[in-house]
Amino acid sequence: MSDHLCTEELKEYYPAAVFGKDRIGIMGGTFDPIHYGHIQMGIDAHDQFALSKVLYIPTGRPPHKAGQFIAKDQHRLDMLDIALPYPYMQVSTMEIERKGTTYAVDTLTALKNVFQEHEFYYIIGSDTLLTLDQWRHIDQVLTMTCFIVFLRKGDHIDEVNRVIDFYNSPSRQCVVLADTPGLPVSSTEIRFRIMNGLDVSGFLPDEVIDYIKENNVYTK
Ligand code: ATP
Repeated sequence: MSDHLCTEELKEYYPAAVFGKDRIGIMGGTFDPIHYGHIQMGIDAHDQFALSKVLYIPTGRPPHKAGQFIAKDQHRLDMLDIALPYPYMQVSTMEIERKGTTYAVDTLTALKNVFQEHEFYYIIGSDTLLTLDQWRHIDQVLTMTCFIVFLRKGDHIDEVNRVIDFYNSPSRQCVVLADTPGLPVSSTEIRFRIMNGLDVSGFLPDEVIDYIKENNVYTK
């Protein structure tokens, strides 16, 4: 766990004096398991929006997955560590450490207390954008962060643009569509394939596939 950044360690890692008004990407997710879609979103957001860092923050107990099976926290963290290819990608345990249901507004509040001079960019898929109205205190969240949206397979661009326009106003254009779409992959499909003995190569790094097999993450 020593390579992961809790809130206090984050402060030491990114002293505001050094980084000034840096842009920090926040990639929240269950990562059950992490796949190439998640990794490519971090790379594209970093490159297209001049982010200095992309923080991968695995969820504790997200409200929209209450009651569902989620792999052990340690397994999800290990898989992130194995998969993330660039030093600008960092894993934070801040949501896992928080007890109970985790909400983005609490994560942002904690991050903003530490990084008062930074701008935040939440990196999400278009399926998440379409449920943004259900996020706790979404009006407040929209004042705390911008959103970078990746079009996800199955979602329609017109609908996505309509929702983006809904959240933007002439004075604040803070929900933006990335130039590139998300890759056609999901954790649900990967879990299904593994549980049914189907091949998952090409969906996620081989090293993560080996870890899943060695640790029986999705099989008994
Ligand atoms: P599951 O299938 O278990 O719901 P997932 O593949 O959606 O998992 P999450 O960890 O829940 O992965 O996703 C974290 C964030 O990344 C969400 O905002 C989701 O919309 C986005 N995301 C995940 N995969 C993609 C993808 N292939 N294209 C675009 N966005 C994605």
